[in-house]
Amino acid sequence: MPHRFYLPELSETGIATLEGLEAHHLIHVLRAKAGEAVELFNGSGLVATAEIMVVRKRDAELRILDARRDPAPSRQVILGTAVPKGDRFDWLIEKATELGVARLIPLVTSRSIVDPRDSKLDKLRQTVIAACKQSGRNHLMEVSPVTAWSDFCQREFPNHSSFIAHPHPGASTISVSLVVDHSRIVFAVGPEGGFTDDEVALAVKCGATPISLGPHILRIETAGLALAACAAAM
Ligand code: SAM
Repeated sequence: MPHRFYLPELSETGIATLEGLEAHHLIHVLRAKAGEAVELFNGSGLVATAEIMVVRKRDAELRILDARRDPAPSRQVILGTAVPKGDRFDWLIEKATELGVARLIPLVTSRSIVDPRDSKLDKLRQTVIAACKQSGRNHLMEVSPVTAWSDFCQREFPNHSSFIAHPHPGASTISVSLVVDHSRIVFAVGPEGGFTDDEVALAVKCGATPISLGPHILRIETAGLALAACAAAM
């Protein structure tokens, strides 16, 4: 795979200019030279092969050679998740992007401990871009604003295949037979202290099915990625 660069204002023909972090990556990290070919993507499905024309200190000009549109995946996986501590959230964002999650929604629940500020979310969006560059994904994973549990349940669960991960007796084991609507699958993962009974009841009322991921208690990010991997394999 050629080196890839994110350019939201990419067009199908003409000259493209890389600036900022992407130019830094091309010029100072990869030390790319005029004449080399790279791939550009706009994060919404447009991908182009481009030849480097001019490399300057802070920007580079590239000529678009050909472009194509990569259609959006037919399945949307939405992962609402409590936020794990420290670097573990960054790790979750990177791996969820690789596994094809369409939208990740950081949740605030009664027992949540971590509530990332908007500036932190901006940094996480850079992690999404880096994971798309590395994995060949052409549609960015959306990182939604932090959302309260009741809003998430009411907005996301109704009318779709919706699941709340809940390691308690009575939860069904996750399986493809539980998925009715394959075009959109919604998962929710709770905080280290788990969901409260009222939170589980609200989820069920809004249409979610409680599911188990086996007999062991998984960390937040392990549970989220296990669900994303199940959906990717269905
Ligand atoms: N003591 C908490 C409880 O009993 O719910 C454990 C919380 S666990 C560290 C964090 C979240 O990961 C849970 O709220 C749940 O959403 C998910 N989770 C972890 N292990 C799971 C399992 N075996 N089955 C289903 N969900 C699981």
